[in-house]
Amino acid sequence: MKSRIFILIGPPGAGKGTQAKNIANLKDFVLISTGDLLRENVEKKTELGITAKSYMDKGELVPTELVARMIKANIKQNIGRNGFLFDGFPRDLAQNALLSEMLKEFNLDVDKVIYIDVKDEAIHERLTNRRICPKCKKVYHMKYNPPKHGELCDDCNVSLIIRDDDKIDVIKKRLEVYHKSTQPLVDYFEKSGRITKINGERTPKEVEGEIISNI
Ligand code: ADP
Ligand code: AMP
Repeated sequence: MKSRIFILIGPPGAGKGTQAKNIANLKDFVLISTGDLLRENVEKKTELGITAKSYMDKGELVPTELVARMIKANIKQNIGRNGFLFDGFPRDLAQNALLSEMLKEFNLDVDKVIYIDVKDEAIHERLTNRRICPKCKKVYHMKYNPPKHGELCDDCNVSLIIRDDDKIDVIKKRLEVYHKSTQPLVDYFEKSGRITKINGERTPKEVEGEIISNI
């Protein structure tokens, strides 16, 4: 059976990670989140992680060749699975060209791109209140999606953490990078007609329902 390929795209804080984890579970897709994979490498202090951290801390994109290496290994390991859901990759036109090339090698192609649309004005509040579980990577918001007990993960019971790049100046930079590098890719997908635009400024459940009905 040929694996189906879906891409979640949108600005930082749009809710990609929140949705990706639930959808991958519900649909039994392999989740490839480049942000989570990079943060794992940073945590383990691998060579890749040490290099990547200097870019991530500034809110810049990590060089594509480093990200590509992780992705390819992941696709190879999971070939034959029901589907793949990409969160945070591709991030610009060059990464998209690279993904197409990689998929071609495995005789695969992108089925659909889901664009979660959230305006810049909402991003700041979302990211300054974000917490993540260092163990299972689940995403919380202290106001909109708070943990049940204090600042502990509902599933793992470990203390939630604030991402190093969820600082005001880094958030600003990440938004700039999004508009400069990722927005042109969104425009390209729009022209090619493979994108479904979803209003991300509704409850996570509503957003999830619309994504599910589109894949
Ligand atoms: P991304 O992966 O796109 O950067 P996240 O999934 O990490 O975004 O979400 C960013 C923050 O916004 C988190 O704190 C998350 O709990 C919160 N969030 C996600 N979806 C929604 C939503 N529909 N409404 C309000 N807050 C949300
Ligand atoms: P995210 O978890 O998607 O918000 O990504 C956090 C940070 O990881 C970004 O600001 C980048 O520094 C880096 N990153 C994640 N995905 C990519 C990618 N596809 N290409 C380059 N850098 C990435």
